[in-house]
Amino acid sequence: MELVYPGFYKRLSKTSHLHVEDSCVGCGLCAQNCPVGAIELKNGKPTWIQKNCVMCLSCLHRCQKFAIQYEDKTRNHGQYLHPDEI
Ligand code: SF4
Ligand code: SF4
Repeated sequence: MELVYPGFYKRLSKTSHLHVEDSCVGCGLCAQNCPVGAIELKNGKPTWIQKNCVMCLSCLHRCQKFAIQYEDKTRNHGQYLHPDEI
């Protein structure tokens, strides 16, 4: 994807666009489930390590509280898990 849309990918891959909402309960599942260790819990809330993140959005889609969002775009889209994972 980076070869085809370098600017688009660069913009998407900024972890600064990810944020956590007050509904987070500090369970730590986002950090445990991140496949590349790109989340650390600080004071019970996730923080992102940009150099590790591959922007798979697993953290957003697996949060039990849907507390992780990407900018203001994902709240209305809901979460998705592959049927084999449910
Ligand atoms: S999985 Fe969701 S509720 Fe749990 S710590 Fe991460 S953001 Fe908070
Ligand atoms: S988007 Fe994927 S790689 Fe990045 S922090 Fe979330 S789960 Fe980890």
